[in-house]
Amino acid sequence: MEVLSNLLKLINEPIVQFFLWVAVIFIIASVFLDRRISFWVSSVGATYFWVKNQDPAVALKAWVVVLSVFIGVLMVKYIFNLNLLLLLKGRKRCPMCYEEIHRRARVCPYCHHRFDRVD
Ligand SMILES: [Zn+2]
Repeated sequence: MEVLSNLLKLINEPIVQFFLWVAVIFIIASVFLDRRISFWVSSVGATYFWVKNQDPAVALKAWVVVLSVFIGVLMVKYIFNLNLLLLLKGRKRCPMCYEEIHRRARVCPYCHHRFDRVD
């Protein structure tokens, strides 16, 4: 019950509700549209709805959170040369053909580039 009441408290946070809206719109939009377009439709749609009907400061806070995460991922990518999104998927990018391949692959299945080091 403790967990449930904490979860309900969390869901009642306006910023969490904003992200839930984005997620729901994204899921509905991705049925009909390409993933990238759905992302923009959901984020812009939720922001528009929030600015019109709810507290615009919440939408602003949510975008600050999104941009911080985005900047964090980019910094890790360029400072440590590590792509977090690919790492989470267990993939890496071939330096020759730029295809996404398995993280432990020793030979690229697309261009047959050999990797010296597999970690
Ligand atoms: Zn390749």
